[in-house]
Amino acid sequence: MVSVNLGDIVPVSTIDWRGKTAMVIFLRGCPLNCIYCQNAQILAGSNYVNLEDLEAASNAEADKFSNLWNYRDLMEGITAFNERRRPEFKGE
Ligand code: SF4
Repeated sequence: MVSVNLGDIVPVSTIDWRGKTAMVIFLRGCPLNCIYCQNAQILAGSNYVNLEDLEAASNAEADKFSNLWNYRDLMEGITAFNERRRPEFKGE
């Protein structure tokens, strides 16, 4: 059984992979100690999780996110934002 030292999970990021929407999984234990590190608060400590459990959880999260696109209100919100108008949500 393989385990990883989990720091945090960002279910949806639009800044970590240029041009793509991605889930980001942060792991603890980086030894470099860069002074500009934006993740210093999660580098130390331990939170070991089974890799298979992490994969199952991330797959479930990805499924939930992909289902969001089935809601018309989500597309209406994005379209309204792009068109600089108020959205007309219908609960669909
Ligand atoms: S920025 Fe932080 S996570 Fe990245 S290499 Fe440096 S110490 Fe490690």
